[in-house]
Amino acid sequence: MAPTAAQRLVIENCAIATVDARDTEYASGHVVVAGDTIESVGPGPAPAGLAAVTRRIDGGGHLLTPGLVNTHHHFYQWLTRGMATDRNLFDWLVALYPVWGRIDEQMAYTAAQGSLAMMVRGGVTTAVDHHYVYPKDAGDLTGAIIRAAAGTGVRFTLARGSMDLGESDGGLPPDFAVESLDDALAATEAAVDTHHDPSPDAMTQIAVAPCSPFSVSTELLRRSAELARRKGVRLHTHGSETVEEEKFCHEKFGMGPTDYLRSTGWLGDDVWMAHCVHMDDSDIAAFARTGTGVAHCPSSNARLAAGIARVPDLLAAGVPVGLGVDGTASNESGELHTELRNALLVNRLGPHRERALGARQALRLGTHGGATVLGRADRIGSLEPGKLADLVLWKMDTLAHASIADPVTALVFGAPAPVTLSLVGGRPVTEHGRLLHVDEDAVARATRDEARRLARRAGIG
Ligand SMILES: [Zn+2]
Repeated sequence: MAPTAAQRLVIENCAIATVDARDTEYASGHVVVAGDTIESVGPGPAPAGLAAVTRRIDGGGHLLTPGLVNTHHHFYQWLTRGMATDRNLFDWLVALYPVWGRIDEQMAYTAAQGSLAMMVRGGVTTAVDHHYVYPKDAGDLTGAIIRAAAGTGVRFTLARGSMDLGESDGGLPPDFAVESLDDALAATEAAVDTHHDPSPDAMTQIAVAPCSPFSVSTELLRRSAELARRKGVRLHTHGSETVEEEKFCHEKFGMGPTDYLRSTGWLGDDVWMAHCVHMDDSDIAAFARTGTGVAHCPSSNARLAAGIARVPDLLAAGVPVGLGVDGTASNESGELHTELRNALLVNRLGPHRERALGARQALRLGTHGGATVLGRADRIGSLEPGKLADLVLWKMDTLAHASIADPVTALVFGAPAPVTLSLVGGRPVTEHGRLLHVDEDAVARATRDEARRLARRAGIG
């Protein structure tokens, strides 16, 4: 049950990183949550004499931050972790498409539960699933994924993906794993009509999300952009991930991925793209000019040897940047809080070296940056009065973190921190490292069973 507006929850005596516009922090402060909204944030204890306080939490030894926002994932991949571990993107996709083409509704539901559970127990309060594999007769995959997300209590965007460029049309996926252009568009529109909540406090939203330049026809890209704008929803896809994709676009379209996507109507402040690794200065300027957002996925980019996205240059140009886990077939950890650390470390391996990203910038990418690329920064992504109470209380007083000089540094540079409490819209979803609305052990068993069933169906297990 969501708390009513009259009920208050107080957290005090903790360090607070608000991630507001000024990066305001308190060494010891409080947050008052009224119903689903943050009523006040500030230094010292909560104001005296508050009425209807149903819960008061002593946050001693903790850091309070906004909830993490995961901007790119493929939940179904939870069932194909640890496969094709030593391949680049295209070879990895070719190895896995035939397996993914065998998923059904139960598998999609269970995989979504696994992916969500892993993230939510690690401080994610808003999640995105970019789902683009819709085999014929697989059942209601969209409904299954949305049901799984609702069951964990997380705020959720389903990026309804699609592929219509099979092998016989010069694409990368096998023909049996793709939809027709008309089917993909009709099903995407139906998903928006059935599930999208346009309100600022929405728990479920839909984005229009054809998969990538090498698995989707030009016509599907163009008509997807038209559909999203007609419906007033956001657009998402993969872009500029690898040198192989760049080569594909130059050979097939005579231009790089950013110019190609722009030519189909795909730059704008209602668009965010995953990866954006291989971008030159003019690509970055085009993103900045149009307000196009980026989902930076450092672990997946490293796992697939894709390269290092130019995050410091994107940020300097004013491009909105959030973080993404990416699918767990290319990032087996499936955690977002470790991506804060990996974003910082990976970017320091690039030309900007030690000035590439700091701890506070990394935290901003994982919170406010993610909220911005999802178009929701007016309601989530920072701890400020009037915003939704999506927040995380990280335990910082144990062996792993207690001796690190400052709590934000400890969170980003240190080991993954345990979550003592996370709230979505004022409602607890994780407490003392355990999910409150999902049986983690049951999910682990179900995902193992469904992974085996998928392997058998695909003839590899
Ligand atoms: Zn991806």
